[in-house]
Amino acid sequence: MAAHPSITTSCGFVSLVGAGPGDPDLLTVKGYRAIQQANVVVYDRLVSPEILSLAPSNAEMIYVGKQLDYHCVPQEQINQILVDKALGGNKVVRLKGGDSFIFGRGGEELEELAKHDIQFEVVPGITAAAGATAYAGIPLTHRDHAQSVQFITGHIQKDGREIEWASLAQSNNTLVFYMGLKQSGYIAQQLLGNGIDDQMSCAIIENGTRREQRVLTGNLSELPEIAKQAVSPALIVVGSVTSLHDKLKWF
Ligand code: SAH
Repeated sequence: MAAHPSITTSCGFVSLVGAGPGDPDLLTVKGYRAIQQANVVVYDRLVSPEILSLAPSNAEMIYVGKQLDYHCVPQEQINQILVDKALGGNKVVRLKGGDSFIFGRGGEELEELAKHDIQFEVVPGITAAAGATAYAGIPLTHRDHAQSVQFITGHIQKDGREIEWASLAQSNNTLVFYMGLKQSGYIAQQLLGNGIDDQMSCAIIENGTRREQRVLTGNLSELPEIAKQAVSPALIVVGSVTSLHDKLKWF
């Protein structure tokens, strides 16, 4: 296997590691190694305690978790912590839930590191859309159901540009909404308004890949009602592949 780049550098180094969606066994081997070599671990809310416990006992553990509508540590401050710790000569692991480049602001953090000429690597993680649907027995594509899949943020208005709903609303497309619970009424309304059938099946996967995982299914017109019964973290999946859950559920 390839040598870990941090071994060859004497100054600070940041490993941006995706921790996966919940089940600690879904961490990559590369991510596991990086955590074991860390002096400093900067981590988010969705990272499981089992993964945090892989860090050396003398590593500095810094929690910068965020919750919807309640930002514990502003992004600029997180960026500053990473820069300061790396310039201090540490091997820093920046641990995020899922994959850091999918709705994880990993790109923004790396831009800041690049500005300061700090060396870094990116260790991909299993994003919630892949992990949660696998554990729910919902294949994201399937020759009889979906020829494409799209990952969409449900944090719509706050994140700036409006989504192009018309391009999403195709019956052979699987849609996966992250952070969509609170916006489920708007999501259903836009998809229905752009021509998706109100009987199109959908699912909400709550706590995907964790022991407490729950999968709620129904059709698009029922989505806002179903969402009221779900808690975060949860994904909304819209598309006929979700009808396979009953047959393929295994977890
Ligand atoms: N970078 C992460 C996503 C961060 S955004 C990734 O790649 O997975 C946070 C959103 O991810 C949550 O609001 C939820 O929609 C989704 N999410 C994260 N973990 C999840 C899980 N275990 N089950 C279901 N959804 C999850």
